[in-house]
Amino acid sequence: MIHTRPSGTNWSGNHRYRAAETLLPTDLGDLAASVSRTPSIRVQATRHTFNDIGDTDAALLSLERMPTRIEVRGDRARVEGLVTFAQLAPVLEAEGRALHNLGSLPHISVAGAAATGTHGSGTANGNLSSAVTAVEIMDADGHTHRIDDAHPWFPAAALGLGAFGVVTAVELRTVASYTVTAEAYTAVPWDAVIADPRRLFASARSVSVFTTWGDPAHDLVWIKATDADTEPGYVMDLGGHPIGAELHLGRIRTVGNTTERGTPGPWHTRLPHFRAEALPSDGDEIQSEYFVPLDAASEALAAVRSLASVVDPVLLVSELRTVAADDLWLSPAYRRDVLAIHFTWRNDNAGVAAVLPAVEAALAPFDPRPHWGKAFTMPGERIRATLPRAEAFVAAAREADPRGVFRNDFLRRTLAL
Ligand SMILES: Cc1cc2nc3c(=O)[nH]c(=O)nc-3n(C[C@H](O)[C@H](O)[C@H](O)COP(=O)(O)OP(=O)(O)OC[C@H]3O[C@@H](n4cnc5c(N)ncnc54)[C@H](O)[C@@H]3O)c2cc1C
Repeated sequence: MIHTRPSGTNWSGNHRYRAAETLLPTDLGDLAASVSRTPSIRVQATRHTFNDIGDTDAALLSLERMPTRIEVRGDRARVEGLVTFAQLAPVLEAEGRALHNLGSLPHISVAGAAATGTHGSGTANGNLSSAVTAVEIMDADGHTHRIDDAHPWFPAAALGLGAFGVVTAVELRTVASYTVTAEAYTAVPWDAVIADPRRLFASARSVSVFTTWGDPAHDLVWIKATDADTEPGYVMDLGGHPIGAELHLGRIRTVGNTTERGTPGPWHTRLPHFRAEALPSDGDEIQSEYFVPLDAASEALAAVRSLASVVDPVLLVSELRTVAADDLWLSPAYRRDVLAIHFTWRNDNAGVAAVLPAVEAALAPFDPRPHWGKAFTMPGERIRATLPRAEAFVAAAREADPRGVFRNDFLRRTLAL
């Protein structure tokens, strides 16, 4: 018998899953029985998304009781099931290996992050999906397929929004382990940020700018540098000075949960904002994010800043990061180096939904692509118009899942799948 539990809500509680129950298979046989028992199913991973991308009316499925093996061989790692970056990173580090980048928190699942184009920062760093070299996927008939980078579906399935089936394992490209030193700076004038964003974001391996758009006292530039970086001190040339012990991300008060600053340490202990063993952020929030061409960064930032008073009542903080171009068909960085303009909002669905159209209208001239896992109101036609391979994605997903077992309202709305 396959156990179940109530589906509940996503991590922040802004979305209650419509599916009443989540199936909990314990092995591949159970998993095959689970997918073939329901007409519509989606995987519920670490639930750090903010919309209905992972929902369906029928049933959800969690891999939380499945094996979580990690194998590291040469420059490849294979992870199974619901492995998170917090579990994977120390194993890689023990083998002298690393990932090229990490998101702001390590608590999320590797499969969920890859499925949605989750990213960190750095003009030379692709998103986390760009490290995928193969995915193993169980289809609606319970058969498992390995789709590697030679397979015609690979550019769709590596960042597949869960549309190809249940990802039972992900293979990732690793790099030699590296050391990072982080420091956070305040007092960088906004004019300096927008004067030459490309130079600021390229000044270290990972650069994040936090802003509340209006009040410079809240602004912060968080630099995570390696020995190979050529201009880690550029932020100080712009007037920045280290903030000391207290770190506030806009209106988010951090409570001893951020990663260490001021001393060198292994990549996975410095690249995320939040420490693996602490609760990230404060959980009471909604997030949105839009990706615009890095070449248009200054103009796009000016457009959003003109809305400072509109977004202010619901804004906790914005974060600006960069992502290098890749070739994955639904990637927000598909064939474009992008600036990611992120908003952490108050946990107020109606208030956020009221301001998003204004943000999306301001960014419209820059062809924005939304983060698949965050809140947005852009119609599907507009999203598809920014993704030249969206139709190819839909065709491949239909071939992989002809009965539409893994399709849901989100995919119908955004991709007409
Ligand atoms: C505090 C916080 C910080 C964040 N920081 C960042 C950040 O720095 N950068 C960033 O880009 N995003 C960030 N996000 C957003 C989030 O991390 C991503 O959207 C990511 O997708 C979450 O993965 P998950 O597994 O938790 O999500 P889930 O909602 O559980 O899953 C995401 C999607 O992938 C599908 N899926 C998951 N696993 C599988 C599988 N095995 N097989 C098939 N489909 C699967 C699900 O069905 C769903 O559609 C953050 C979110 C929070 C709450």
